[in-house]
Amino acid sequence: MIASFGARMRNVLVFCFLFFSSLLTAQQFDLVLEGGRVMDPETGLDAIRNVGVRDGRITSISSEPLAGRRVVHAAGLVVAPGFIDLHQHGQSLDSERVKAFDGVTTALEMEIGVPDVAAFLKAKEGRSIIHYGTTASHCAARSLGFGTPLPEGTILPKSGPATEKPATPEQIKQIKHRLGDEIGAGALGIGMGIQYTPGATRLEVIDMFRLAAERKLPVYTHMRSFGSIEPGSSIEATEEVIGAAAITGAPLHIVHINSTCLRDTLECISLVAGARARGLDVTTEAYPYIAGMTAINSAVFNPGWREKMGIDYSNLVLPNTGEHLTRERFEELHRSSSQQMVLIFANTQEMIDATIPHPLIMIASDGDLGHPRNAGTYSRVLAQYVREKKTLTLMEALRKMTLMPSQMLERSTPAAHRKGRLQEGADADIVVFDPQTISDRSTFEKPMEPSIGVHYLIVAGTVLIDDSKMVPEVYPGRAITSPVKTGSALRP
Ligand SMILES: [Zn+2]
Repeated sequence: MIASFGARMRNVLVFCFLFFSSLLTAQQFDLVLEGGRVMDPETGLDAIRNVGVRDGRITSISSEPLAGRRVVHAAGLVVAPGFIDLHQHGQSLDSERVKAFDGVTTALEMEIGVPDVAAFLKAKEGRSIIHYGTTASHCAARSLGFGTPLPEGTILPKSGPATEKPATPEQIKQIKHRLGDEIGAGALGIGMGIQYTPGATRLEVIDMFRLAAERKLPVYTHMRSFGSIEPGSSIEATEEVIGAAAITGAPLHIVHINSTCLRDTLECISLVAGARARGLDVTTEAYPYIAGMTAINSAVFNPGWREKMGIDYSNLVLPNTGEHLTRERFEELHRSSSQQMVLIFANTQEMIDATIPHPLIMIASDGDLGHPRNAGTYSRVLAQYVREKKTLTLMEALRKMTLMPSQMLERSTPAAHRKGRLQEGADADIVVFDPQTISDRSTFEKPMEPSIGVHYLIVAGTVLIDDSKMVPEVYPGRAITSPVKTGSALRP
């Protein structure tokens, strides 16, 4: 059949259109993740898709082929939002590297907060491989108010007058003033380690919640007490902070409910559930290890700790050396003004196994040098609870690691709406991992062994882990700050 002139002309036009649009497509994306299992806990998407990234954002999720300057073949791998760790103390590059191999693209110091927000943000600017941010530290502000600022490089006060004494009205005023300034410098909320400042009265705690509520920011808290002995049980401690949230209206996030509530963890979670059922904004988190870790000269080890936790000196172990403490060694380290971290073996595997799958539990690592949770938390949950015990689906686990923490962060900054999602318009913070092999490798003996199974990690559109290897000399990490601070890279 001979085509008419009009039909041939049309064919030429169609050809030209396809030719030029394919040229356009070829230039369309900085990066394409091709053929992976794309999972998004908010929309429920769980399908083979191609993901196009441009200018640090996810700009296309399509079942059609996408062309990009760089194409990564992700067949057989899961493509998910990068994990958001709300509770990360270790903020050095060493810690950031092991976090990255664990799938984490954002690691925030929210439990306690740093002593100087502006100095922290400045020190990390342009030198961070993953995103960072912090709360304002009540512990540090209180130490300042008592005239004994925290020593350089520490976030926890040594047990002493600044932790044991009630603050005067004048000191409360100073503490609030300092916290207000820290919020102005970009803090994402107020961090309160109440157990580290037992001299803080119930009213002081409420006053800090009032300040957070005024600034429309949440309080993150390590609660006042652990164990079952009354008064001073973990149930009472949970009541205290839920009460402060109810009185003031400040959103409340209870950190590591596993290591504060120990054998009563499920009861503590039920208190959180009850508060939420009454309309309160209360959330919580846990990490998948039976041991905790903290500073041995802190108020956590004030007299009575053995009875409260139901453990003895030998359940305290020094990281790296593995030395189990005796009474004498404990006394020496507890008195010391130089800060030594100690592992606390106080929980059971059964309690951790019952806690991690609970729908109210976010995953957060409490990571720091010396404890395997720094490097292994996220891979361990994926290996142990999704793959081995099968008490979590992959999507449920991802929700705990991405969407739930990003929704928590939305209380502090609208920029968090673009985090924790694998959606068009979201920030291109993406983990690409093998669900069959992802595993933690860190142990109490070798706490900094990086996890395996993360093949690619994308931070703000930059490839940070490429074919399972760290790309050197790229620093795509940016500050996440509350909107009162101007000039944040993440300002919406
Ligand atoms: Zn803590």
